[in-house]
Amino acid sequence: MIPIDIADEFDQCIKCGLCLATCPVGKELFLEKYTPRGKIQLAKRYAQGDLEIGEHYRDIFAKCLLCGACTVTCPSGVDQQKVFLSMREEIVKKSGLHPQVEPAIRSLLRKHNISDEDNSERGDWRDDIKELPDHMYEKAQADVVYFVGCVASLFPMVQTIPQNMVRILESAGVDFAVMAGDEWCCGFPLIGAGIPGKMEEVIDHNLDRVKRLGAREVVFSCPSCYRAWKEHYPTDLGLFHSTQYMERLIGEGAISLGELRETVTYHDPCDLGRNGGVFDAPRAILKSIPGITLVELANNRDQSICCGGGGNLEMADSALSGTVARNKIQEVQQTGARTVVTACQQCVRSIKGKVRREKVDLDVLDITDIVVRAMSHA
Ligand code: SF4
Ligand code: SF4
Repeated sequence: MIPIDIADEFDQCIKCGLCLATCPVGKELFLEKYTPRGKIQLAKRYAQGDLEIGEHYRDIFAKCLLCGACTVTCPSGVDQQKVFLSMREEIVKKSGLHPQVEPAIRSLLRKHNISDEDNSERGDWRDDIKELPDHMYEKAQADVVYFVGCVASLFPMVQTIPQNMVRILESAGVDFAVMAGDEWCCGFPLIGAGIPGKMEEVIDHNLDRVKRLGAREVVFSCPSCYRAWKEHYPTDLGLFHSTQYMERLIGEGAISLGELRETVTYHDPCDLGRNGGVFDAPRAILKSIPGITLVELANNRDQSICCGGGGNLEMADSALSGTVARNKIQEVQQTGARTVVTACQQCVRSIKGKVRREKVDLDVLDITDIVVRAMSHA
């Protein structure tokens, strides 16, 4: 049964409907049951014993990006994400995993990555690096661990992100290591899939491997890995998203950035911005590149609209995820910028994938791409 503190959440809903205007899913599907308000009311009925949750409800609650836009809009302070995650847990207990999400979750639990690859392939992004050092960034001891994450490790479209990160860290003289095949998925997809209890083994493994390296800090280029560690890993290690770490390196003068004459806009990833509280570091980095003009999106910072790639929606309903990505591209185009920068491999995949399929004239960059570009102009 749904926990008491969650029941308090939906009791606060006054059904005002303000969350309907900000939900990227509800705006597309036009049915109350797909809106945050509708889902909150379904959760309430379930808690009151008036609703049997079966496969139909699994589908309804899967159509959510867990982006948190409804939460910042709600005048009553309802924490919708908390309610929706609880409902996903209840639904899994009764009806099992969502069939479209299940393969990635089974892979995560068996092979320690979401792509059903042999986990030793996690370090293959290094193959394209010219002048790769003999240690290939795997060391016995290091001050800092760079935790790459499944998507940037294994999806070719975004393997440039770890390639950039090691170049940035190396240039700055940071003593860092990567864990390659010894890195396991951070466990974040287990939360969205409704089985957060399965994270324990993953957490123990990753923490043990970082401790063995004697590291004091961990850097993440994936906002969801960063969030998973921040919220679920019991550790006093320093945890930094790449934007926070790069901002520090730039502030210390450890990396030099040359001029790039470009107008760019910045997309706040949900798990970094609204859900992670990091808004300023990426903007500070962009502003520290001479020649860059930053124009904000109409919906920026905590009002940012999801790229379509959150909440396991890409697996559960790829067409809906693609529609949200298309809307994001239209918002970007309205700024007049020909380049959108973000700070998340999943946002890059969602937006760039749609840009390629629809042949849109738009450059989609991760922030590490633009930093490396500026470094090469220094
Ligand atoms: S904004 Fe909050 S109070 Fe209003 S309908 Fe949505 S969940 Fe309920
Ligand atoms: S978390 Fe995002 S997608 Fe889910 S209901 Fe709220 S606004 Fe809609």
